[in-house]
Order: sequence, then C-alpha cells, then structure tokens
Amino acid sequence: MQTSTAFAKLAEEVIARCQKLASFSEDPGGTRRTFLSAPMRDCHREASSWMKILGMSVSVDAVGNLRAFYAGTSPGAPRILIGSHLDTVPNAGAFDGVLGVVLAVGLVESLGGLKLPFGIEVVGFSEEEGVRFGVPFIGSRALVGRVDDELLGWKDERGISVRKAIQDFGLNPNEISKAVLSDDVLGFLEFHIEQGPVLESLGRPLGVVQAIVGQNRLEFNFSGQANHAGTTPMNLRRDAVAAAAEWIVAVENLARRTADLVATVGFVEAKPGATNVIAGETRATLDIRHASDRARTETLDELIRQAESIAARRGVTVKWRTLLSQNAVAMDAFLTEQIEHAIQKAGCEPHRMASGAGHDAMILAEKTPAAMIFLRTPGGISHDPAESAHLDDVAKALECGHHLLTQLAASQEFLGRTCRA
Ligand SMILES: [Zn+2]
Repeated sequence: MQTSTAFAKLAEEVIARCQKLASFSEDPGGTRRTFLSAPMRDCHREASSWMKILGMSVSVDAVGNLRAFYAGTSPGAPRILIGSHLDTVPNAGAFDGVLGVVLAVGLVESLGGLKLPFGIEVVGFSEEEGVRFGVPFIGSRALVGRVDDELLGWKDERGISVRKAIQDFGLNPNEISKAVLSDDVLGFLEFHIEQGPVLESLGRPLGVVQAIVGQNRLEFNFSGQANHAGTTPMNLRRDAVAAAAEWIVAVENLARRTADLVATVGFVEAKPGATNVIAGETRATLDIRHASDRARTETLDELIRQAESIAARRGVTVKWRTLLSQNAVAMDAFLTEQIEHAIQKAGCEPHRMASGAGHDAMILAEKTPAAMIFLRTPGGISHDPAESAHLDDVAKALECGHHLLTQLAASQEFLGRTCRA
C-alpha cells in the first residue's frame, strides 16, 4: 500500500470500525465499556473478526487483553507490540484508546500480506481508565508483571473483586503471569488521540510524544478560626478560606510563569460552610505536572513555601499530605526519532510534545522501549460523545505508521535490540 488514496480509504474503514465498537456499550444511547463487562466480549468478537481475516492468531489473556499476532518472516523473528486500550469512561467518545487498536489492525492491513523481519502483536488493553475498580492500567500492568494479589483483591461498587471479575469473564487468574511480555519484544507503539488542543492550535495532524509528564497530587489543609461574620472585624479574622484563595491564585500565577507546567486546584471545601460564618478550616487539592521532574519538584517546593508564608501572614496554619508522586516517563529516543522521520515522510511537520495524561505506553516503558504518536483532536474534546478525529489525520497516521514499520524493518539497530524484561 503506497498511495494516499489507499490510506484515505483505509482511514474511512478505521473510523467506521471505531464507531462500530462504540455501539458495544453498557449504557443504551451512550458508550460505556468498562473492564470485563459483557459489551467488552462483543467488542472482542468484532475486532477478532477483522484480525482473523488478516491471518492473525487471536487470543485473550488472563486479564482480558485482546492479543492478535501477525507473524514475521521467520518463526524465530522478534515482535513489536502496537496497541492501546478498549475500555472507556462513562459517556465516552468513539476514539480514546479504541483508535490506537483499530489503527494497529489497519497498519497490518496496509502491509497487504507482506511479512516483516519482526512479527506484529496488536494489543487491545482491557483496562486503562480505572473506571470499574478505581485502579487504572490493569491491562498493561499484566504485561509488565505488576498485577499482584493486592490488586486482584480490589472490589468494584457491587463488591466483585478483580479476581472474581476475571473468573466471571471465563478467564483464569492463575494464568496472569503468562500475559507478561515475552523476551522477543523489540518495543511498543501506541497511537492515541491527543485529548488536548495543542496540535490543533499548531495546525499539525500528528505529534510525537517525548515524555509522559510526572505528577504530584497533594491535599492542603488551612486552619484558622471559625467566627461570626457580623461581629468579627476584618483585621481580627483568621479566615482559612481567604488564605486558601490567596494561595490558589499564587498557584495559578506561578504555573503561568513556568514554561510547560500545569497546576490545578480542582477541589476546595470550606468548613463549617455557612454564609454567616468565617471559615475555620479549608481543604484544597493540588495537581501539578511537568515533563521535567526537576521543574515539577522545584515548583512544588515553591508552592509549599508560598502556602506557609500566606498562612503565617494571616494567622492561619497549613498542613499538607501527598496523595500521589509519580516521576515523568521518557519515551524511547530511537523510536521517537524514527517516528519523526515517518511523520515527515507522510508529508507532515512533526511536533515533539509531552503527554499531560497517563497512557499504557507509560506502563510498558518499564520493560520495553515505548513510543507514542498523537493525533490532532478536534476542539481538544475527549471523554465526551463529541470526541472525533479528522479522516485526513487518520490517513496520515496510517501512512506514518506504515513508513515507520518499513523503516524499522530496515534498521539493524532496531532488530538487534532485545527486551529488557
Ligand atoms: Zn486513552
């Protein structure tokens, strides 16, 4: 497959397939497909039928990941993994995750039966969003050997454990270790919609992810003195919510001044929470992200200092605790460079960027070189039925992916790699 007309035709099929999978839903009239739900089985059946036509051998591993193998030139050939997730959030669109799986099938189709010096394993991860159990990445964690007894014991809101859900789906939790990446894996590629406005604002169809940002989540508690709103003069107050408010504006100001940093106070609660009472306690969360761990931790330290100084000036105390601390994950430099070449060959100007959200590639990167290609997201809208993808961008992604496979097939440096597992 070489012509842009052929890629455009394949892109039409990819989009139609994404929309078809969106119809497999737990909710009538909307898309919601959580981990090991009944519609996930329908989704597997549909996707398997496309994969089998291409001569792929299809299986479902013990955590419910759909895995389809397209053999390489020789039986002992190594393999690359291409994929993303098949689960969705409630009231989802048709493309988050799903596009990366369907596009991977399209790439195998684009080979027209040609075999490469590596096999291609298409993976449709069973769980990325964390909707059912409140724990994300169950699917990809199984591939790096991080589904343990503690995780298997987590329960959903109906009291069903991960272990029981696996059994109910007809799978065997004792076989989870078999889902781990084999030694012949050369790397993992994930196509995903950007889910943000950056590529659209630059007018570029495709981006290449350099790193998945690190993040901290903290909870701050400002403690002052609750008192009467009518009888307490302004200069004699110890107002916890006013202290928190001043700090929230400081968070926004510092984040705006720090390149590529994002910081969000997404939750605020004032107590006692009455119109005529000065707040004695205020709880506020902080979510801070950056591709550089140093930039992130330095900014966080400064925001803690500012919280303390604002509180002290107002006769308020502040305490904080860390809810999450996760370092940035770099994508593989060699693959990232190859993707840039492939994007250029497809006639587009590549844009190097960080991913502000976590993805399966972040988990796979623990064990194998991983890389991500972002597709422009119209309006930056995702996790909503209005989520979409431009037909031309999907065609460019297919063309880029096809060039990438051709480049990697010709690269001794790539073929000489072995899995770090
Ligand atoms: Zn996703």
